[in-house]
Amino acid sequence: MNASLVIDFVRDTFKSTDFIPLHAPFFGSNEKKYLAECIDSTFVSSVGSFVTEIEIELKNKLQCNHAVAVVNGTAALQVALQLSGVNRGTEVLTQSLTFVATANAISYLGAIPVFIDVDLDTMGLSPNSLVHFLEEFGELRENRLYNKSSGREITACLPMHTFGFSSHIEEIIRVCSEWNIPVVEDAAEALGSMSGNQHLGTFGSCGVFSFNGNKILTAGGGGALVTNQADLGIRAKHLTTTAKVHHPYEFVHDEIGYNYRMPNLNAALLKAQFEKLDWMLSKKRELALKYNAFFANSDIELKWEIPGTKANFWLNTIQLESKEHRDLFLEETNKKGVMTRPVWQLMFQLSMYKECQKDKQQNAQFLADRLINLPSSIH
Ligand SMILES: *Cc1c(COP(=O)(O)O)cnc(C)c1O
Repeated sequence: MNASLVIDFVRDTFKSTDFIPLHAPFFGSNEKKYLAECIDSTFVSSVGSFVTEIEIELKNKLQCNHAVAVVNGTAALQVALQLSGVNRGTEVLTQSLTFVATANAISYLGAIPVFIDVDLDTMGLSPNSLVHFLEEFGELRENRLYNKSSGREITACLPMHTFGFSSHIEEIIRVCSEWNIPVVEDAAEALGSMSGNQHLGTFGSCGVFSFNGNKILTAGGGGALVTNQADLGIRAKHLTTTAKVHHPYEFVHDEIGYNYRMPNLNAALLKAQFEKLDWMLSKKRELALKYNAFFANSDIELKWEIPGTKANFWLNTIQLESKEHRDLFLEETNKKGVMTRPVWQLMFQLSMYKECQKDKQQNAQFLADRLINLPSSIH
């Protein structure tokens, strides 16, 4: 199937002859209403009712015990890793097929990423590759995991649910509990995605979401950390609000905290977005089903949720035969005003991460050469 057929299909589906973006945010009327309410209240900054409301919204949606709203997903990742025990000079097992924030959050803590391969079906961290790596390099001493090749302690595993598709998260959790390391889920792209009846982001010790402009719901900028562990939830709130100890007027801080609280202004926008989440998820599935019917019986593979999981279909993703096909496809679609894009450069290809330890990375390389994201806005 050539690019021009796909271009025609996309134009037809989006009923537009103009430029078609990859993923435009969608706003209704309550966004302006709540923003105006927020401004009128004068509580536009890090204290206000909208922040509390969206935290309740998140807990209800995800069926988890604690949700802490923060300035962005990257900050949420940093704090989630810190709370899970990641510290300077230790290592975190993660995937190279991800957005750079995943690896950067590890670096912010002075820790070092180690790149484990992904699975072809989920595009997320492969539990089998994880087992292979740990059997070759892992060593448990006094209940702590060490990397035999670097001598460093491994303090966490950070899988990412690529484009809103669930990775094999239950297996990842099982492997990591055998090796005694916590799992932090980078669910930045996976709001509304499930594995079984459980929401992604709630399997690990902490899960992280993003509300950036390109994500399924946007706060303008924003993120959240969720957890079922009371101690972590309380610490997350404390650390992200400058570790301020409650006092009627004195400024008392009991550790080095962060100014990471989501501003009320952003939460006001997000509250209006949250009201539409279920509707948005159904629209996204509708679009994915259209793509699915279109690509059925073609030489192009549309990535799909694995059995027992539910994707949010944040970004529809196709897999082409070869890198040459991919490059041609990208060039033609973008030239014709239908925005498509390749996946990120693999983390070990970036200058700051090129020295990091990695396994063979066969699947990550295979996918990086062939995947393309298609326009996935809901209107
Ligand atoms: C968007 C994203 C982030 C970071 O979220 P921000 O809110 O932009 O900081 C982290 N990881 C992944 C996989 C993402 O897609």
